[in-house]
Amino acid sequence: MFRVTFWGVRGSIASPGPKTARIGGNTSCLEVRVGRELVVLDGGTGLRLLGEKLLSEMPIRASMFFSHVHWDHIQGFPFFAPAFVKGNSFVLYGGKNVTQTLEETLAGQMNFPTFPVKLTDMGAQMTFRDIAEDEEVRVGDDVVVTCAQLKHPGGVLAYRLEHDGRAIVYATDNEHGPEPDPKLLALAKGADTLVYDAQYTPEEYAGANGAGSKVGWGHSTMMEGARIAKLAGVKRLILFHHDPNQDDAAVERKTERAREAFASTEAAYEGLTVDVGS
Ligand SMILES: [Zn+2]
Ligand SMILES: [Zn+2]
Repeated sequence: MFRVTFWGVRGSIASPGPKTARIGGNTSCLEVRVGRELVVLDGGTGLRLLGEKLLSEMPIRASMFFSHVHWDHIQGFPFFAPAFVKGNSFVLYGGKNVTQTLEETLAGQMNFPTFPVKLTDMGAQMTFRDIAEDEEVRVGDDVVVTCAQLKHPGGVLAYRLEHDGRAIVYATDNEHGPEPDPKLLALAKGADTLVYDAQYTPEEYAGANGAGSKVGWGHSTMMEGARIAKLAGVKRLILFHHDPNQDDAAVERKTERAREAFASTEAAYEGLTVDVGS
């Protein structure tokens, strides 16, 4: 078993509405069923929906890896119902590079007066682990997680999950440079699936659409995703972290363009399920 389900695929801010109904408007959250383990990647607003589903499987034991702590990656956590239930247990991993620990940030977003319940009142057992990019984490007996620090304001970790000779790489919130990032290429090398920050088209990134340049905002394009996928020899590219201003048709157009550069490309949408390596 190595199956990924996308619960939130949007970047920056949740963007519900009729124009985004097919792709979905919830922010970053992936469920990974790997071996006997449940791994959650990021806790954006999609996490609430995953939590609803998990209520039928309690008690829950899961490992949660946070790429970083911008709103769109943590905002679902206060609404993650299984975290309120005694008997559930979570190990939460986050990058060491920030001024606050993951625990301090998750607690901070629930502080009075902006939220009525404290992190410490949530009920489930939570163990926090701060990790650095050279660390390797084992989840259960047979899942190995490695990570790399990419380029994003405040820092971001991209993760590679390996199991039984198969691998998925989750690389969101990364700003590319003129040359492909050697750290990302090494992390993604030969992966079955690469999930990549394709927030902008090259025109949106450069500001050629009249909305202003996005250089320095910490995000990438679908064409860079295709370039990395090709150079790293990945089998399947999944465009992720769609800009909130991209409607369903815009996501479809950018996916078609990326497919011209890398044939095995698709867009992440809410409910997409991928069996890694098959
Ligand atoms: Zn983000
Ligand atoms: Zn971010």
